[in-house]
Amino acid sequence: MNPEPRLTVDLACADPEDRALLGGKGAGLAAMIADGLPVPPGFIITAAACRAYYRAGRRLPEGLMEQVSEQIALLEERTGKRFGGGENPLLVSVRSGAPVSMPGMMDTVLNLGMTRTAADALAEASGDPDFAWDTYRRFLRSYAEIVKGAEAALLDRAGEAAGRSERPPAGVSRETAARLDEIIRNETGTLTAAPEDPREQLREAVAAVFDSWMGKRAADYRRMEGIPETIYTAAVVQAMVFGNCGPDSGSGVVFSRNPATGEKTLWGEYLPGAQGEDVVAGLRTPGPVSSLADQSPRLLEELSDLADRLERRYRDVQDIEFTVENGKLWLLQTRSAKRGGRAALRHAADMADEGLIDRNEAVRRVAPGQLEELLHPVVTPGPDSRVLARGRPASPGGATGEAVFTADEAAAAAEEGRDVILFREETSPDDFHGMIASQAIVTARGGMTSHAAVVARGMGKCCVVGCLGMAVDPENRRFLTAETEVRAGEVVTVDGTGGVIYAGEVPKVNPVLDDYFDRLMGWADDRRRLQVRANADTAADAGAARRLGAAGIGLCRTEHMFFAKEGIAAMRRMIMASDSEERAAALRLIEPRQTADFAGLFTAMSGTPVTIRLLDPPLHEFLPARGEAVSALAELDRRLQTAVGPDDRERIESEIAVRENLLSRIDSLAEVNPMLGHRGCRLGVSFPEITVMQARAIFTAAVRSQREGSVVIPEIMVPLVAYPSEFAQQRVLIDGAAAEVFAAEGETVDYRVGSMIELPRAALIAGEIARDAHFISFGTNDLTQTATGLSRDDSARFLPEYIRLGIIKEDPFEKLDVAGVGALVEIGVERSRAANPDIKIGVCGEHGGEPSSIAFFDRLGIDYVSCSPYRVPIARLAAAHITLSSP
Ligand code: PEP
Ligand code: MG
Repeated sequence: MNPEPRLTVDLACADPEDRALLGGKGAGLAAMIADGLPVPPGFIITAAACRAYYRAGRRLPEGLMEQVSEQIALLEERTGKRFGGGENPLLVSVRSGAPVSMPGMMDTVLNLGMTRTAADALAEASGDPDFAWDTYRRFLRSYAEIVKGAEAALLDRAGEAAGRSERPPAGVSRETAARLDEIIRNETGTLTAAPEDPREQLREAVAAVFDSWMGKRAADYRRMEGIPETIYTAAVVQAMVFGNCGPDSGSGVVFSRNPATGEKTLWGEYLPGAQGEDVVAGLRTPGPVSSLADQSPRLLEELSDLADRLERRYRDVQDIEFTVENGKLWLLQTRSAKRGGRAALRHAADMADEGLIDRNEAVRRVAPGQLEELLHPVVTPGPDSRVLARGRPASPGGATGEAVFTADEAAAAAEEGRDVILFREETSPDDFHGMIASQAIVTARGGMTSHAAVVARGMGKCCVVGCLGMAVDPENRRFLTAETEVRAGEVVTVDGTGGVIYAGEVPKVNPVLDDYFDRLMGWADDRRRLQVRANADTAADAGAARRLGAAGIGLCRTEHMFFAKEGIAAMRRMIMASDSEERAAALRLIEPRQTADFAGLFTAMSGTPVTIRLLDPPLHEFLPARGEAVSALAELDRRLQTAVGPDDRERIESEIAVRENLLSRIDSLAEVNPMLGHRGCRLGVSFPEITVMQARAIFTAAVRSQREGSVVIPEIMVPLVAYPSEFAQQRVLIDGAAAEVFAAEGETVDYRVGSMIELPRAALIAGEIARDAHFISFGTNDLTQTATGLSRDDSARFLPEYIRLGIIKEDPFEKLDVAGVGALVEIGVERSRAANPDIKIGVCGEHGGEPSSIAFFDRLGIDYVSCSPYRVPIARLAAAHITLSSP
């Protein structure tokens, strides 16, 4: 028989290792108490109790409230106060705390145990009626909102009269409290805003905290972070300590190191005369934590020592909530700090240097996705950039988008694929879905540890908070400053590093990567097996890729080289050629351009392989759109009507003939489904001159770059192969071109010829292709398209709905569909290796830069992945994580 689950645990004798039962917050507090740190006494209602609550259909488990009464009695004994009355009333906090940290996602009720009688007693006991009634008002508000579900806006209106969280004069405070009480009673239809019996309050509050586990916010967060629902949450009940009881009191949040820059300095905020919720809610703007020294230098020193101690104990940067009550420092919580990418790197590298963690752990401490923000653009305003507002730089980066003013609006716009910036007076956890959907978040109020700041930093999203002089007006979908008004839909740029909001789109550049980045990436490189190359089409991209650690180019899409104007004109001549001689002449014009472009790549990538793929898209892409050609003809017809003189007529007629020819070529090349049409190697089969021209350009560039001192390793890749004979035919052309160029130049280079594997048939017969190939590279974009039958171009219209309905978990073009497309890759790898054990195998679809897909490729023993230059570091780190997590 299973033992009865433990429903409550006294913090003073809890086992700090038992996070599953106590929750992260509870375990942290238990550990702090065990270490003799100043933590208010309390107890935990366990995650097992929460599980039982849900199993019983949202009913508190039998025996729970009896145990709670015993725990309360113990608390009364320890504090010398009485719960619900007496001369010195005991108030408690009830806070949620899941086994996995979910900051701000669930509910908290403070000052519980408060009643009108208790408020009178507290006023008497503290000799400070302002404090007592302020506490009463806070309790009513939090109880009404969390337990009774009253609307925040209604409570705000009532609260406004009391001057929000400013401490109001005594008479007003008592009145406001009464008014608030009345409004809440009317609104919620209950007799009292909160029950007069504190044990009843406690029962309702615990149920409310448990309920918040299944609330939308928490569920969204769990989905995003992959946290299972079945771990449930514990609730921590602790004796209240008061930051709002006089000049020697206050509340703050402190980080043992800076969570934005990573610097090893105490960093945080302090708000005198406030309870902790005021700091995180962003209702008032706090000062830096150093301002605690104005109150007491000794307290700041004590706080700094405690932060250091906690950091050493947990071997990680700590985010600590503290309260000062009449000159005594209390710690309310410690947890590993959420941090941005830049800080994560620096913390990890510094801690490894300090011997707090080893280098394996340092590499593990940085999530590949966190690098994204180091690689993100930095806003570079020019003299004409117009500043709309300034605030505090809460989370670095830069983003441009349309202004929106509610979370729902942000989410809806993002569904449509629009980039938006979310402006709020301040954010609350209810804005979370809008924050996920936005490119950046801006709040008019709040500080660096406000909800907006902490959540945005955790998501690596650019964020500016506390914009002085900004008023956000969601009703009228606008924000106002003294100088200007910005309406919904207007484009703005947010600089999260400088804390500035600009009008319109402001240019951005990629940041310089610092020494911390290089060192940590070096450690990651020492630990990974998988090679990482880049997809790059120009010498400039190749240079960037190399700086970001690419070990070569895994895919140069040559068609991108034609997209410049002159390139297209030359291609058009080739396509319009009436016979092969004319076509050859047009190709001769293209060849020198191609040669120069390839030489640029070889030079930039000297010493590393450069995979150049032969022309892939259908030829019609190089011709003008049909509509354009038709209107040009119509215009010529009009001109013909009004032509003056035979010369003019003749000129227009000959132009019409050319245009008609173009139109008929467009029509003859038109395909119902070009993606499955005359593209890839099929073009090279029909027009061998194209393959020969490209191969000749590649070999000529290689020989010349080699002559100039570069070490060249050209790899020519044949696209969209379905039949081994297609590849064989192209290979003959390529080898022929090589022989011709080497003879003419009197010099040779080693080269390799390989095939894309991007059609299911190619994956299935990969062995036959591999027999005559030096390498194969999986084009997982086309392979996903052809294996799933989902169009790369059109399926984005309905895939979000598929994901919403749970038909598929994620977009297969973003994360490899391991079960389907992955199975084809696996077959391709096995069969090609069996036929040719020396074959090199790569992946060059977008999945080559996506961590979970990379993990799959690594398991298959693929040699390299290739991804866009700015994803190269992410792939390097992901590959290292895979090695570190392998048994
Ligand atoms: C692919 O299909 O995966 C690929 C890399 O080629 P492209 O994206 O150019 O079709
Ligand atoms: Mg492809």
